[in-house]
Amino acid sequence: MSAIELRGLTKVYPGGVKALDSLDLAIPDGEFFALLGPSGCGKTTLLRTIAGLETATGGAVVIGDRDVTGLQPGARDIAMVFQDYALFPHMNVTDNIAYPLRIKKVGKAARQQKAAEVGARLGLEQLMDRRPGQLSGGQQQRVALARVMATQAQAFLFDEPLSNLDARLRLEARTFLKKLQHELGVTTVFVTHDQAEALAMADRMAVMESGHIRQIGTPAEVFQRPANTFVAGFIGSTPMNLLDGVVRGDTLEVSGCKLAVPQSAEGLLHDGEKIVYGVRPEYNVYSAGPVDGSLGGNVSIVENLGASYLVTLDVNGVLVQAVVPEGHEPLIGDEGYALPRRDRALIYRDGELVPA
Ligand code: ATP
Repeated sequence: MSAIELRGLTKVYPGGVKALDSLDLAIPDGEFFALLGPSGCGKTTLLRTIAGLETATGGAVVIGDRDVTGLQPGARDIAMVFQDYALFPHMNVTDNIAYPLRIKKVGKAARQQKAAEVGARLGLEQLMDRRPGQLSGGQQQRVALARVMATQAQAFLFDEPLSNLDARLRLEARTFLKKLQHELGVTTVFVTHDQAEALAMADRMAVMESGHIRQIGTPAEVFQRPANTFVAGFIGSTPMNLLDGVVRGDTLEVSGCKLAVPQSAEGLLHDGEKIVYGVRPEYNVYSAGPVDGSLGGNVSIVENLGASYLVTLDVNGVLVQAVVPEGHEPLIGDEGYALPRRDRALIYRDGELVPA
């Protein structure tokens, strides 16, 4: 049984923007699922439509074994954490955490006990009498999470809950949230535009573009085998090199260089066909001297990544990037050669991965 299932879910806003275009998605019970995609692709709309804060124009939302499409948010048995936490400024931490229980008419003693229990779990024991204005951003975030946890919903929905935190707190919160979700085992859908966050936290993820889901998979699948050139160009801290090429017998002609066919596409290409050759900078092995089957050119940019360098080569007018370990970085203007790993390079035909 899927904890959350979307069937042909469509949302057209008044004015005609189609924010969700007939989406199908099944999220199994207990999964931590991330929604990722560029600004405006429909992530927030999808989350709000699952929550019932937006009405679907077509299709269905099923939570557990109930079709909740026509139900009000309060009747869907889900809890949502927003980007701005939406805490009540005039209530202390205990009352903020206990608020959903008050709405459910749980008695005061039981409410306070539950708030104390959940607050302790989130390290808020010392802060239970404070108001949100007396808390740091990270502490407010914990209160918002505690409030969601106290409700014991069937599913949690998070809309960029970490976006107000500074970089260090954000990393801490990431680890903490993943651990917590794992312990609770509650199906969670998490919207982010930070792909490092999605890759680090999600069991599976969907990459969206203009109201469509372009790929669903584990972070490893999406990173190693992007299903199309959109996902390939979107995922990765440095985007994948996507280079136009032509099949020439059993080799490839790419940016004026002769490359071997990647292992994954062996025997699947036709002489003369146009392809896009994809290789991540991390899988382009850099040398200062000529190497057979490499992309050779001149170094045009060298960027420091900390423990390594991102080197951009001008290969007959096409820019190709490679990650080079520290101590081996070239100088601008040097000759350089990037040898793609055959076990990692990918071929796209008409924008789709070969084999699909
Ligand atoms: P971001 O990462 O910037 O928050 P998103 O992926 O969450 O973006 P949505 O907020 O879901 O995207 O928006 C999807 C599309 O729907 C966009 O084109 C947006 O302009 C449009 N949209 C969102 N809300 C409304 C609304 N209330 N009325 C009309 N159009 C809307």
